[in-house]
Amino acid sequence: MSEVRVRFAPSPTGFFHIGSARTALFNWLFARHTKGKLILRIEDTDAERNTPEALQDLLDGMRWLGMDWDEGPEVGGNFGPYFQSQRSKIYDEYLEKLRVAGHVYDHEGAVFFKVSGKHQVIDDQVRGRVERKEEKDFIIFRSNGSPVFHFVNVVDDISMGITHIIRGEDHLSNTSKHLELFNAFEAKVPKFAHIPLILKQQGSGKMSKRDEGALIEHYQKNLFLKDAVRNYLCLLGWNPKTEEEILPIKEIIHKFDFPGINKDNARFDEKKMAFINTQYVHKLPISNYKKLVLPILVKEGILTNEIDEEYLNRVLQLCQEKLKSLPLIGDFTAYFFQESYEEDAKTKEKLFKKGSPIEVLQELLTILENLHDFSSESLENAIHSLAEKNGVKASSYFLPMRFSTTGKGGGPSIFGLISVLGKDRVLKRMERFIKENS
Ligand code: GLU
Repeated sequence: MSEVRVRFAPSPTGFFHIGSARTALFNWLFARHTKGKLILRIEDTDAERNTPEALQDLLDGMRWLGMDWDEGPEVGGNFGPYFQSQRSKIYDEYLEKLRVAGHVYDHEGAVFFKVSGKHQVIDDQVRGRVERKEEKDFIIFRSNGSPVFHFVNVVDDISMGITHIIRGEDHLSNTSKHLELFNAFEAKVPKFAHIPLILKQQGSGKMSKRDEGALIEHYQKNLFLKDAVRNYLCLLGWNPKTEEEILPIKEIIHKFDFPGINKDNARFDEKKMAFINTQYVHKLPISNYKKLVLPILVKEGILTNEIDEEYLNRVLQLCQEKLKSLPLIGDFTAYFFQESYEEDAKTKEKLFKKGSPIEVLQELLTILENLHDFSSESLENAIHSLAEKNGVKASSYFLPMRFSTTGKGGGPSIFGLISVLGKDRVLKRMERFIKENS
């Protein structure tokens, strides 16, 4: 088989959104799977709607998601220019070919393409066999001289040697026009793969740029991990045919192929995206994780210079397995670094509901005061023997211990928490709590 050449052909008219990113991604995956080339072609013939900011956002977004391209803006290649706005000479030449072959005519200043009236068969790699017939001649150059999407799109696919067209299903209805053009040019027809639409979270509508979570920028701003976002996008219309959905990109590239692309529409699921992101946060190598969370803690004024490096490392390590997303790190760890923290009112109410916990805390305080080894194992043993002695469940001590030392109802595992906070802080905070609430 000759080398695979696929293209991602966005019209940068707005910010880079999930739908575009997913189309780019499927092209990228297919190119990497087949060891072929990904061409990035900018369909910017509509000068008024295409902005440099949108283009920059697209290039940044692609790079952020780790999708590199082999030919296109900023990297060049032998089939350029890669901006349609710079290809008018090529379009004129191709129009001339159609004229010579008698496939076009002029009408009121516009150039029309004469359809063949034949049934066009699309042997789509995802949809299967689709038959369509174009009944009406269509415009390929407007009366103002600008070429129309169908024309430039096909001319570029021919002149750039594209072998596979992977694009959204919304373009399926254009494909019979495109086949008419490929045939008129006597060009080899690429293989088509129309990938399912992405529906919004609720209802039957297609996800639009205005929907929450639709823009890639949203994930960048909210400090999602790019590998997690990419992993989630891979699952929007493709399935690895295993239960495991959290997959390293190498494995996805290895597995990615047209038979794995779903026919049914995909549905955007914010919760699943967040869940996948959480799994990636938990799996981050500690050094990367530290590099990502430290600037957040500094920015939020939680970390000051005096903080002991070893303590900081222990805190971060302890919290990683429960942290749901990076922006929560400040709220999740502030009490480790600051003596004044807010108490959660609801949790406090719950804690005092069954009577005052002060007696229990006093007993705990005595036990902890006399405990020399503050490792989580030693703490666990101490609390379990106390529970046994008093004929209660060990878990009945968890909330009083946690709340009196952190002001929260949840957080890292309790014995790890007490151990990392350390004896001094724990005793001081418990004493303060007892005093304030007796
Ligand atoms: N510029 C078109 C779009 O953004 C490309 C269509 C295609 O991939 O053929 O939808």
